[in-house]
Formats: sequence, structure tokens, C-alpha cells
Amino acid sequence: MEQSPESVWKQCLEIIRDNISRQSFKTWFAPLKAVGLEQEGELTKLTVQLPSQFYYEWLEEHYFALLRKTITKVLGPQGRLFYDIVIEKDDAETGYEGASMHLPARRPANEPAAPSSSPPPDLPPVTPGYSAPRKLAAPSFSAVPGSPTEPIANPFVIPGIRKADIDSKLNPNYTFERFIEGDCNRLARSAALAIAQQPGATSFNPFLVYGGVGLGKTHLIQAIGNYLKANRKAESVLYVSSERFTTEFVQAIQNNRASDFSLFYRQIDLLIIDDVQFFGKKEKTQEEFFHIFNALHQSGKQIVLSADRPPRDIQGIEERLLSRFQWGLSADLQMPELETRIAILRRKAEDDGIVINDEIIEFVAHHIKSNIRELEGALIRLLAHATLHKREIDLPLAKEVLRDLIKDARVSLTIEQIQNVVCDYFGIPEDLVRAKTRKREVVQARQVAMHFCKKLTQHSLKTIGLHFGGRDHSTVIHACQSVQNQIETDPKFRDMIEEIHHKIEVRSR
Ligand code: ADP
Ligand code: MG
Repeated sequence: MEQSPESVWKQCLEIIRDNISRQSFKTWFAPLKAVGLEQEGELTKLTVQLPSQFYYEWLEEHYFALLRKTITKVLGPQGRLFYDIVIEKDDAETGYEGASMHLPARRPANEPAAPSSSPPPDLPPVTPGYSAPRKLAAPSFSAVPGSPTEPIANPFVIPGIRKADIDSKLNPNYTFERFIEGDCNRLARSAALAIAQQPGATSFNPFLVYGGVGLGKTHLIQAIGNYLKANRKAESVLYVSSERFTTEFVQAIQNNRASDFSLFYRQIDLLIIDDVQFFGKKEKTQEEFFHIFNALHQSGKQIVLSADRPPRDIQGIEERLLSRFQWGLSADLQMPELETRIAILRRKAEDDGIVINDEIIEFVAHHIKSNIRELEGALIRLLAHATLHKREIDLPLAKEVLRDLIKDARVSLTIEQIQNVVCDYFGIPEDLVRAKTRKREVVQARQVAMHFCKKLTQHSLKTIGLHFGGRDHSTVIHACQSVQNQIETDPKFRDMIEEIHHKIEVRSR
């Protein structure tokens, strides 16, 4: 049977999925497309398209063995994997177009070389359309109007300032050492580190980190700045929020100093701008930033940005700026999984000199799942209560202090999860609780599941009814009453409900 690239790759993905974490799979393999399957002599070549050079390097470094094993399994010993790196860059104004390159997957040492038409795999990072970093002379500050004795209004109009004297506005605590690594942030963190080691010289320029509140964007982008400063890799580093950038720009215009503003920013070696979604709808600021961006990018300076959503979803940003955001690499931060949450809490407690046992750390990590800032907040709250009431930090204290946070976390429990656990417990197929059947054991499971949906989620009776095959809200009320009656009259039933409750709690962690 003729096989298509997609069907072969699909078989590969199934094997890969079983061998790595869900998060890694989602990050590294789910976005890839198979684009070719060819027979060349004895070899069967599968070509997979990668969205950036970084994927290529990462796959080769971390998944080489797995990919090789998988390809051999699916295509046999003559199977070979090739990559097409297609960087989608489309910029009407510069006529800049997408670039692509074809690379073979790394060969084991004892294998003959790949056909010479393919470039060797150990090429330096491809940065199409991007000239090697050129050192352009920074604008000389003697050109800035105003005499050196003039009073200083804004930081960017300091005449005669030396680049090294620019205040970076970095928080020294936001370092890579303190940024715990997990599946949730591996891509973003390693790209950030690569940039810190070679600012302006990787293909990740600009580098954009995005993700929800409290997931570590500010920390990570500042870590790049702190690294550069500590290792003297850049003379001038500047961290600025997009709001501050906007305010300063508006002031500069009001004071007739827009060109000073512009000159100031153009001499920065590493410019970090936080929360660029706030540039939305601020057209003048966007325009200024656009020109600064171009000047810096052209002279091989590194730009690092953060946003609370993927660039495409940012509202009110001009297309030409959006397309620049996508020139380099965008990487997202996710909520850490349990192990990483535990590691973050341990590290935080250690840094703050708090002695706290593992049981408490695990309790907090289990229950606080919204974001890392809340995770840290919970720890601080615990410490404050313990100090205030001169109590030890133990489990009862933790439960008491974090009660409201834990309740909030329950919102995330879904009706489907509850149905799943309950049906599992009663050993019936899940769709039966949504079906019409009135078989006794199904009715019982349905009622118990409704009871928990009412108790553990914030959903209305109506919504709950809808999730059970479109039943009426009065059916849900009846179910809850019936379960409650049995809990009160039948100790065996009560034990069973407690056991199911426990299973649901475990599932929701
Ligand atoms: P954001 O900018 O995404 O809202 P922040 O960078 O302000 O989030 O992070 C919130 C808090 O969580 C900060 O105190 C930060 O140090 C901490 N934090 C975030 N990610 C990590 C991590 N991976 N390891 C350790 N601490 C982290
Ligand atoms: Mg932030």
C-alpha cells in the first residue's frame, strides 16, 4: 500500500507520544508536519517541517535517539529522517519572505555521509534575512542637544552619559539560577539562556515570551539581562515595561525631546520590554518602537519581549510590528506541573531561610495551581500566620490559612472529570450517565455524580443537568436530595461517598 508522509509521521507520533511527557510532546512534536516521503535508492526519506532552527537543534540534542528508534521501527533500517526548516517571515514592506532549508537528521558516526545536496547538520544557526551582527557605532551622545549642565528631566536625556552607566532597572533576584526548570518552561528557558550566552547572534531575535499572569515572564526576560550584566556581555542593558516606555515617550514629545528619546533607546545592546500587549492601540508609541526595533535589529542588538498572549492574538498592534515580533522565536510559559511546583516552593523556602517540611510543601503545591505568584503568595501567607500566632507551620495551619485559595482551585474541577471518576468507581461506561437509561446502578452513579458536581464545582443546576444528557434542573435537585438522605441514613453509603470524594480530589490534583 502507498504510504503518505502524514500516515508515516502519524505512526511515528504514536510511538513518540508513549515515550515522552505530554507537555514535551505538545511542545516539540505536535506542531510538526510531515511534508515528504521519498524513495532514494535503498533509503526511504521522511521529511518533516520544523518552524525554526531552534527546533532542529533541540530535537537533535534531546530526541535524537528516540527519533532514530522510531524511524527505524516505522520505516525499517533504511528509513531516514530529514528536516525542512521553514521560517515564516512575511513582511510586505521589506519584501522579506519566508526562508527554508533542508537538513538531514544527524547521522550516527558509522554511516556514510548524506547526499551532498544537503548541507551538513552542524551548520551555524540559520538566520535568513538577518545579517551577521555588525557593530554599528552607537550614536554619539555629544550629538544630543543641550549642554552638560542642563538639569536632567528624563533618564534618556542625560547628555554625555556613558553607555555603561545606564541604569538597567533589573531586579537582581531574577536570575536563571533562581528560575526552576520544568516541562512547562523548558523551551523558553533554554532559548533565553542561549540568547544570554550569545545576545544578538542567535536566530531568536526578537525573543518573545508569552503566557498568563504570574507564570514567570518578567523573571525570565530579566534573567537574560542579569546574565549579560554579570558576564559583561553587553555594555548597556535596559529593562522597561511597555507602559513606562509609553509614558516616557509621551513626556518626551511634550518636552520636545522625542529625538533624544529615540537616540537613547538606539544605543541599548539588550532591550527588554515587558508586557508589550499594552502597546495595543497606542499608535504613536508603536511607531516609535517600530523604528527603534529596526535600528537595534539591524545593528545586531538583542531584543527581548514579553506578552500575556501569543503575538497573533494581541489586539490593536500594527501588522508590521506584529510581523516583527514573529521574526525570531516565541516561546510560551505554562503552569508548572506538580513536581516543578514542589521544586519552586522548596527553592523559595530555602532562599528565604524558612524551615518547612515536605508534607506542607506538597500540600501547598497540590492545591495551588493557578500560577507561580500565587504559589509564592501562599508560602508567604503561611509564614506570616505562623509568625503572628507563634505557631509552627503544620498541616492544620496550612489548611486553615489557605482555605479560600483551595476553594478557588476547585473551580477548575470539571463535570467531565467527576463523571469519569464516578463511572470508574461504579464500573459503568461514562456515556450511560448521559443516556436515557433508568437502570438502577446507572441511576445511582448519575445521582452521585450530580451530587459531586453540585458540591465541588461552581456550575449552576441547569448547567449540571445539561451535562447529564440535557436533564432538567429539578432532576439535579432531586438527585442531590436523594444522595443527601442516604448519606444521613446509611453509614455504608456515607463511606462510599467519602471514598469517591477522595478519588475525585486525587484526580483534581
Ligand atoms: P509574570 O511576569 O509572568 O506575571 P513573574 O515573572 O512576575 O510572572 O513571576 C511571578 C513570581 O513567580 C516571581 O516571584 C518569580 O520569581 C516566580 N517564578 C516564576 N517562574 C518561576 C520559576 N520557574 N522558578 C522560580 N520562580 C519562578
Ligand atoms: Mg510580569
